[in-house]
Amino acid sequence: MRAIRLETTGGPEVLQYVEVETPSPGPKQVLIRHEAIGVNFIETYQRSGLYPMKLPSGLGGEAAGVVEAVGEEVTRFKVGDRVATAGSSSPGAYAEYSVALADRAVALPDDIDVRTAAAALLKGMTVEFLLRRLHRVEAGETLLVHAAAGGVGQIMTQWAKALGAVVIATVGSEKKAARVRELGADHVILYRAQDVAAEVRRITGGKGVPVAYDSVGKDTFEGTLKSLARRGLFVSFGNASGPPPPVEARQLMLGGSLFFTRPTMGDYQTTTAELDASAAALFEMIGSGKVEVEIGQTYPLADARKAHEALESRATIGASLLIP
Ligand code: NDP
Repeated sequence: MRAIRLETTGGPEVLQYVEVETPSPGPKQVLIRHEAIGVNFIETYQRSGLYPMKLPSGLGGEAAGVVEAVGEEVTRFKVGDRVATAGSSSPGAYAEYSVALADRAVALPDDIDVRTAAAALLKGMTVEFLLRRLHRVEAGETLLVHAAAGGVGQIMTQWAKALGAVVIATVGSEKKAARVRELGADHVILYRAQDVAAEVRRITGGKGVPVAYDSVGKDTFEGTLKSLARRGLFVSFGNASGPPPPVEARQLMLGGSLFFTRPTMGDYQTTTAELDASAAALFEMIGSGKVEVEIGQTYPLADARKAHEALESRATIGASLLIP
């Protein structure tokens, strides 16, 4: 099969499109023929070396397609089932096929097409745990959502609106601002030009927000901290601009007895029941039309390098897919 491999860490040029052996499923695994592959920012951290991986390696943690073969102990799926995976522990979704533990793959409902699944499963299940379990967003609550026009950000904005929250979205361009307004954002801050904390204080009448979702990291850390209301919650869940600085306990006191958390999806999907419930909640949001999944960029698998270049240069909107 054809697949993306990397032998060393570095820029997008280390992604090589090569011929490798098609994997065979172990007793508890399924072999999936990919029809669409989701591109996620985490894969740029793995490629660059920010998140170390054993090399040489494949790359990618999100794909959707059809089950081609099942291991002898698998009862959850049969050949021909439409499935998707997200957040697999062994990166390798940037390929024509992958094997996954059957317990870590999800069945696709009839109304969810494979491209939508590949674009939304990892990003949408991230939003699910961030808005419903890490913190239970309530109607009327004001949230700060950074990078709101991105893959995760668009789903978060719409889901938060469906829960009745007031969304203050940040984006990097006027085009992205227009998009998040269409998706329901109540207030939009152009964080490359405006002072985030000053704008948030203005919008909230000086109070600040009770919850801030920050996936940008280094560049937004200070502004996020200063945007929080007393006893507010800082959810740091990504590093698109680089890792945020260390947090000092004292800073949290001075900010008004703040809470700080740095979650990752795996810790909110420790069982197959948690995985299935998270995926079901997402599919329900998509199926009901409350969350629309924008596939802003589609590339042939061979062009994974271009997908990474676009994502890291902030040129993308919504989700990006690779098509084998
Ligand atoms: P996005 O589509 O959101 O792309 C990242 C966006 O971040 C860019 O489009 C850009 O939007 C913004 N950004 C701000 N500063 C920079 C910068 N210096 N370089 C590049 N981008 C920048 O990506 P994803 O939807 O794939 O992921 C969003 C975030 O969520 C990532 O940080 C990712 O790691 C995190 N994540 C965390 C998970 C977890 O479990 N903790 C799971 C899944 C994702 P703009 O132009 O508007 O500034």
